[in-house]
Amino acid sequence: MSGDRFARHALIPGWDQKRLAGATVVLAGAGALGNTLAQTLALAGVGRLVVCDPDTVAVSNLSRCPLFRPADVGRPKARVVAEALSALAPGTAVDAREAPHVSGAGLAELRDADLVVSALDSRAARIALAGRCTLAGTGMLDGGTHAWGGEVAWYPPGGRCWACGLLPAERAVQDDPWSCAAPDPAAAAGASAPVSALVGAWLANLAVRLLLGLSVPGEPLRIDAAGLAVPLSGGPSREVPEAECPLHERLPAEVPVLPLDREATVARLLDHVGVHEEPLTWAGFSRPVGRRAPVRAVTSRLRSAPASARLSELGVAPREVLPVARRDGSGLRYVELDDGASDPRDPRGGPSGRRRATTEGVL
Ligand SMILES: [Zn+2]
Repeated sequence: MSGDRFARHALIPGWDQKRLAGATVVLAGAGALGNTLAQTLALAGVGRLVVCDPDTVAVSNLSRCPLFRPADVGRPKARVVAEALSALAPGTAVDAREAPHVSGAGLAELRDADLVVSALDSRAARIALAGRCTLAGTGMLDGGTHAWGGEVAWYPPGGRCWACGLLPAERAVQDDPWSCAAPDPAAAAGASAPVSALVGAWLANLAVRLLLGLSVPGEPLRIDAAGLAVPLSGGPSREVPEAECPLHERLPAEVPVLPLDREATVARLLDHVGVHEEPLTWAGFSRPVGRRAPVRAVTSRLRSAPASARLSELGVAPREVLPVARRDGSGLRYVELDDGASDPRDPRGGPSGRRRATTEGVL
């Protein structure tokens, strides 16, 4: 095979193939939008994708997801995306994380990524990612669909976040599937191949422009697939966060890096904090409560976990930054987990790339 795969790209003003080849994109969600986005970014020559999704391929996904085949039903979505892209665009390394984004990509990975994209299907997951992007000081590109349209919006660092426009009661919603097949069929919304492809392509177009350092709309793109129009919406200034939105805390500029990765045990982590400190995870984990009739309770306090448990088993993401509360109530500090040594091209879904630790916040 000879010739330049990207020869036509080179003719586009403002295009920089090397810049794309050196870019890392964290993608939360490998459903219909995530499929189209991952496929298009790989075709465009983006060097590395970190794909987070805890779900497996369902039959109902096959109508909208170009990277899934019938034989993939029941297999992890993130892994299938990685395998499909290795054949389609072998120059793109895909790091499959078979976990929710909060356990799949640590805050340090979000901080160091060239772009973070939300292709999620629930309000709670979007709020969590918006808060984590703000903590990490990174922007978030978001896409969502409804029956005959969708919305794509860029939330730049320091400006409004995805949750700024929500009411407090809406921010408190634990989970509210937007579109994809939900466990409760009554909660699932309509979705189709053309709308997913259309919105996914707009999402990918904005992603490529952001990676190339080109301008993107300052307002959300509302895509009306019934009227075949892409109107720009009006709205409040995108530069200033909503005063009442609680998701605008930032990590300190300097966070100490521990000589531990997420395969370390709880006991080893506790060796690195004071006796009056309470290290927390961002993704809550369950622990048994009660001796006679144990029930499961969700906690984020690492001192509640077995000392021998590995942080990864408790949902701590690669390269996570964990909050450490002081028991006297005097505030928080943060610690960052070190890199692991696994292969970033590993498509098997294990932690990979430069790992540090993760925590899950109470948002
Ligand atoms: Zn906000």
